[in-house]
Amino acid sequence: AAEEGFDVEDVEAAIDEAGHGPLPALAVVGRPNVGKSTLVNRIIGRREAVVQDKPGVTRDRVTYEAEWAGRRFKVVDTGGWEQDVLGLDASVAAQAEYAIEAADAVVFVVDATVGATDTDEAVVKLLRRAGKPVVLAANKVDGMSGESDAAVLWSLGLGEPFPISALHGRGTGDLLDEILKALPEAPPQRFGTAVGGPRRIALIGRPNVGKSSLLNQVAKEERVVVNELSGTTRDPVDELIELGGITWKFVDTAGIRRRVHLQEGADYYASLRTAAAVEKAEVAVVLIDTSESISVQDQRIITMAVDAGRALVIAYNKWDTLDEERRYYLEREIETEMQQVAWAPRVNVSALTGRHMEKLVPAIETALAGWETRIPTGRLNAFLGELVAGHPHPIRGGKQPRILFGTQAGTKPPRFVLFASGFIEAGYRRFIERRLREEFGFEGTPIHISVRVRE
Ligand code: GDP
Ligand code: GDP
Repeated sequence: AAEEGFDVEDVEAAIDEAGHGPLPALAVVGRPNVGKSTLVNRIIGRREAVVQDKPGVTRDRVTYEAEWAGRRFKVVDTGGWEQDVLGLDASVAAQAEYAIEAADAVVFVVDATVGATDTDEAVVKLLRRAGKPVVLAANKVDGMSGESDAAVLWSLGLGEPFPISALHGRGTGDLLDEILKALPEAPPQRFGTAVGGPRRIALIGRPNVGKSSLLNQVAKEERVVVNELSGTTRDPVDELIELGGITWKFVDTAGIRRRVHLQEGADYYASLRTAAAVEKAEVAVVLIDTSESISVQDQRIITMAVDAGRALVIAYNKWDTLDEERRYYLEREIETEMQQVAWAPRVNVSALTGRHMEKLVPAIETALAGWETRIPTGRLNAFLGELVAGHPHPIRGGKQPRILFGTQAGTKPPRFVLFASGFIEAGYRRFIERRLREEFGFEGTPIHISVRVRE
């Protein structure tokens, strides 16, 4: 590294940072109008990011990146909850449940000018049961006179209430300091591989693609594992199912099985549920309904899984409904619409007839294997050397930026850091990714490539 002009410590720091797994996640929960969106905006430092809700406006973006005191984390925004769908109490409770599942720590926002309501008390019970770290924000304390309102909230039993004004920024620095104390440096073994627990699958897809049918199909054909495995904590929303001789954990199945019937405008609820399931899973199986055209919503769900860095399998369901003509158009759609995830294993299934169910497990195993692949540094650099020699970066401004060396900083998904002598264009980065995939496979996994440029 040193002879290439890089400081050894910088190289180590870059590898360390790139090898960092998913960011810890913070959820912001509370009743409507207590100031959650205002607080999220303040935390992420962008006013426009969380738009003020208009009824009926679909919000499917639920996580944002934030940074405070040099530490990065994700914020799960639950402000878009549709309370009219479930009724106030049930909706706030469900919101809190999903947020808790998806997060490593929770900020519970109470309107200090109103005080704790029965709904707030109900959320406190949920938070206590979940056992995740909670920071209590007493919001709308715009001035000194409100401090006593905040102090009353000690009665909630969640520890010190932090008086803040999300609107004006008063006290939010102290709140953020406390949030950092509550968040783990890196998410705890969410993947559970270190303890050898069952691999975790999230079955996701837009409503009516056949998630519950598929779950019933696999649970019917195979044995639903009822006995608790030793060393696994039981989570009633997850199901252990044995498939192909292996026990898998299908996460967040309660949302699939207990179908809270939601009408129009419930997309946000579905998105949050999907995000929670993806967070808990190692591999996402995305179902697509082949009897209809591939939609933007399908693509958004795939993007969620990819952005979260999960292994990915795409299951084209309702294959039994296809006639020759539809099948022809479907293949064209897949070519154009699914090009960005052409690396994901594909299975053509029917949850109704059980068609090709046996192909699901091999596809999942392939994706997980790709997700965990580690390329030895020597092999990677031999490959990079050949690639750079055969296909150099285009010359820009009389200079030719060169990839000098690289290393794989992490897995799950594979993350690479490349060190270069100058700015590497996006097109060339994509070329490197393509060639990496051709050379090493990485089937079923997103790969991250970051480039450091010599000062
Ligand atoms: P949410 O429904 O919990 O996301 O609440 P919003 O963030 O949309 O805020 C609800 C209302 O409370 C808006 O009119 C905000 O401007 C207002 N609000 C939020 N934070 C504060 C605050 O710290 N002080 C005051 N006075 N108003 C606030
Ligand atoms: P979910 O909302 O994603 O859980 O979807 P469901 O499992 O409830 O399925 C929605 C509808 O699609 C139901 O009427 C199912 O019977 C039907 N369905 C699911 N899978 C298939 C399939 O493979 N073929 C056909 N023809 N129908 C299916």
